[in-house]
Amino acid sequence: MTEPDVAPSHFIRTMIERDVAANKHDQLVATRFPPEPNGYLHLGHAKSICLNFGIAEEFQGWTNLRFDDTNPDKESEEYMSAIKRDVAWLGFTWKSLCYASDYFDQLYDYATFLVKEGLAYVDSLSAEEIREYRGSLTEPGKNSPYRDRSADENLTLLEGMKNGDYDEGEHVLRLKIDMASSNINLRDPAIYRIKKTHHYRTGDKWNIYPLYDYTHCLSDAIEGITHSLCTLEFEDHRPLYNWVLEKTQPRGKPEQTEFGPLNLEYTILSKRRLIQLVESGKVAGWDDPRMPTIAGLRRRGYSAASIQEFCRRIGVTKNAATIEMLVLENCIRDELNETAPRRMAVLEPLKVVITTLAEGSSESLDVANHPQQEHLGTRKVTFSRELYIEQSDFAEVPPPKFKRLTTGGEVRLRSGYVIRCDEVIKDDQGNIVELRCSHDADTLGQKPQGRKVKGVIHWVSADDSATAEVRVYDRLFNRPDPIAEDDFMDALNPDSLSVLQNARTEGALSTAEVGSVYQFERQGYFVTDPDSTDSRAVFNRVVGLRDTWTN
Ligand code: ATP
Ligand code: MG
Repeated sequence: MTEPDVAPSHFIRTMIERDVAANKHDQLVATRFPPEPNGYLHLGHAKSICLNFGIAEEFQGWTNLRFDDTNPDKESEEYMSAIKRDVAWLGFTWKSLCYASDYFDQLYDYATFLVKEGLAYVDSLSAEEIREYRGSLTEPGKNSPYRDRSADENLTLLEGMKNGDYDEGEHVLRLKIDMASSNINLRDPAIYRIKKTHHYRTGDKWNIYPLYDYTHCLSDAIEGITHSLCTLEFEDHRPLYNWVLEKTQPRGKPEQTEFGPLNLEYTILSKRRLIQLVESGKVAGWDDPRMPTIAGLRRRGYSAASIQEFCRRIGVTKNAATIEMLVLENCIRDELNETAPRRMAVLEPLKVVITTLAEGSSESLDVANHPQQEHLGTRKVTFSRELYIEQSDFAEVPPPKFKRLTTGGEVRLRSGYVIRCDEVIKDDQGNIVELRCSHDADTLGQKPQGRKVKGVIHWVSADDSATAEVRVYDRLFNRPDPIAEDDFMDALNPDSLSVLQNARTEGALSTAEVGSVYQFERQGYFVTDPDSTDSRAVFNRVVGLRDTWTN
């Protein structure tokens, strides 16, 4: 690996170093990771998690995991447990598990305070009218005719909204800031809407739910967060974040800082969009190994360390960065090259009969599990009269520079003998069904006498092998930037999954533990999938041996 061992510094670390040196926030660094529980976490979240938890840990501070659960229609307990599991799996420990819904009473109290101060009002325009009144980037907005309601009237209406006296859409509570502001977020943003939805934590207590901008800054303040780190799209919301805190004067004094979100080529990092892939059945679920979710990557064979390493390599920048897929793949490839035990597996088998061996004879070979890591030991591999090799490792009419087996040609079986193909057996349709080969008994661990044999191929013994299903994945999308498409679903790659039903692995792999990862010699790295049964293992290809995308 050529990457430096020490994480490169970045503007957020520099800012925090300055804050700590200036004794700001009593030198405390308190952060939070605040997902909405409306889906599973993806790699973008991993970047945010590594940043939030990583930076707090560096400065002996702490991080809360907070569910931003203010939108009960889209949120569920399934998502909350998946999020908790994924953050923990990535290797981070939160100080407190928090829920924005725990602050609903306090948020409501702040809202009534703002109403009493004349800083918030109940608006009764329809959603469409509110949009019209808001103006545009070039035109100022107009004041709502309800803007000057008295504090008393507003309080009564707000109370009624809370108690369920009105229908959804009849009223909203808005901040009274400035309808002519050049920042549209400051044009009297709504902070509460009527929603008569059951909430999985607060039940039917609330008929109104607070909106993101209002909820977020106050939740940060209530928890004592010092550094509220979020992605760039919230930059224009920062004045609103600060406005609410200035007017409500909570005890905490959090400060928002934005960083560039992660974009990854050939995939999509947004829960709202990923859910469409799940719900339309285009993928097998949130943990489909093609998904850029933490659960998908785990099932694909990525380790937590490799995802952390990815976040370290991409760094933190002020601007959005689009990262090539190979950066991610190299993280797991580099790790598995060092750690994964080697095995042999034939994905598309072709039968070979070694005619120079007697019927039923076999030999047990001692084979190293890793070419460099001696501590990984050795295993027994059976060499027997009937073997399987890869169909693509034989060619009757070899293309130029073909270094594998041909009729009359020789090849070395990895960790075994040199064999020669003497005869090709075909079925009635002319398909090759078997090769009859002879072996040179003097070539185990030795060069053949008087000639060069260049090619080396992998193989398994027919007697000591097990059939397995192997799933090979390609990019989920055909385009590097699928969301540039009108409908990103149109950019899906129809060939993102190939299933090989008749693969054969070394026999002992039939009981490989779910989650264990191997290098299948010459093929890549493969992880044992939870779909494996006692009679049949299922493997996912994590990644090939080399980068095949940039060639
Ligand atoms: P949705 O599509 O529902 O908005 P999301 O994928 O944007 O979902 P959020 O729950 O909104 O996820 O985000 C939780 C936290 O993760 C936020 O602090 C957000 O800034 C951060 N985050 C989300 N996407 C990325 C990304 N691509 N890169 C870095 N951080 C991200
Ligand atoms: Mg978001």
